[in-house]
Amino acid sequence: MRYVSTRGKVPAVSFKDAVMMGLADDGGLLVPESVPSFTTEELTKLSALDYPSLAYEIISRFATDIEPAELKKIIEKSYAAFDTEEVIPVVKKGGLYIAEIFHGPTFAFKDIALQFLGNLFEHILEERGERLNIVGATSGDTGSAAIYGVRGRKNIRIFILHPKGRVSPVQEMQMTSVTDENVFNLAVHGTFDDCQNIVKEIFGDLKFKHDYSLGAVNSINWARVLAQVVYYFWCSFRAAENGKRPVFVVPTGNFGNIFAGYYAKQMGLPVERFILATNENNILSRFINEGDYTSKEVVATYSPSMDIQIASNFERYLYFFYNKDASKVEQLMKTLKAEKGITFPPSDIAKVQEEFGTYSASNDETEEVIASFYKNTGYIIDPHTACGVAAGLKLDTDSPVICLSTAHPAKFPDVVVKSAGIEPEKPAGILKLEGLPRKVEDISNDTEAVKEFIKRNV
Ligand SMILES: *Cc1c(COP(=O)(O)O)cnc(C)c1O
Repeated sequence: MRYVSTRGKVPAVSFKDAVMMGLADDGGLLVPESVPSFTTEELTKLSALDYPSLAYEIISRFATDIEPAELKKIIEKSYAAFDTEEVIPVVKKGGLYIAEIFHGPTFAFKDIALQFLGNLFEHILEERGERLNIVGATSGDTGSAAIYGVRGRKNIRIFILHPKGRVSPVQEMQMTSVTDENVFNLAVHGTFDDCQNIVKEIFGDLKFKHDYSLGAVNSINWARVLAQVVYYFWCSFRAAENGKRPVFVVPTGNFGNIFAGYYAKQMGLPVERFILATNENNILSRFINEGDYTSKEVVATYSPSMDIQIASNFERYLYFFYNKDASKVEQLMKTLKAEKGITFPPSDIAKVQEEFGTYSASNDETEEVIASFYKNTGYIIDPHTACGVAAGLKLDTDSPVICLSTAHPAKFPDVVVKSAGIEPEKPAGILKLEGLPRKVEDISNDTEAVKEFIKRNV
């Protein structure tokens, strides 16, 4: 399988090159040249597999330049790090299927992709005799999942910037209790935006980027989407009710999670509909409802991992929506850059609405749903999942409804305590972090200071 850019201006590359490249050189996102698909008979066979075997059957269609035995090892290692053998339990509560995609080492769904990506990086670097220095900014979940994905790996160092004192205590503990030699936590005296700007400026210095072999782990890497495609199959099989096609409800920020679902459907997975759930940062809800994709100021909500105003994977969706018309995508992205927004014609939006519904939950509603769901079912959900469950409970449908639960409630206990009056039980993977030694470096809000730190430590 070869990979092309959504903007059509770079020659096709292999899977391994696509993984190492991240963003395409023309500024587009890499996508597979063709969509592999499964027949009904094949789907029946897949439904009997355990998670790593299912992941192998799907991923091997894309990672065609990795030796099968090697790929199997990479996948098995990635999901052995989860705290349940099932990897993703699907439970039925209050008439909804709740898919717990958060059982990885940092208790948010980012682990599903970043465990896999860490092992892939290690394999490719070893084979090529290369090194990689990952630099990234985080508001919490991605940074910790990325650190756990590459801790202790040969040939990789990781530098993660977080805003000092502005990530949740659990997230802070998860990142800074990793004392492996190749992991560097930088607590920046500033906001998340400051951290992101520093990272942008560092990557903008192409000489520095090249001299120090810098790489990124953000959600534009195709391998991250790919690892997420697997659980749409897995969850559908577990919610099969007399062959009815399920509805997926997906708490959404960067459109990475839900794009994987959309792609699974292109591969032949029967899906009735996707419901894209947002918080008060509702650019994607406005897109689906009115064709208005215009970014506004980001507001801080109870579900910080969904506090975004530009969805980095949206470009991949547009590419497939407009039948792989790369020049159309390029033109739309130009408009977005110049005008800070895109307005889509009603005829296109009618087509979008055939596949996507949407719902935007306010902070108040997030609290209400956490409280009422706990009262009615005894099951505690985190504030991100609550945005989805709020949408799921409003649906009037005969289809099985699968809500993706993107984080463990113990990761965001304050909102849960405030809403439902109960402290979520901490899983062993969080309990064991308490009292561990910390490794973190305070650093000023200054790009040069961060560059100096990287130079000293690569
Ligand atoms: C990242 C994240 C999301 C948003 O996922 P996207 O792929 O960015 O749409 C939702 N919930 C949690 C807990 C997350 O960490």
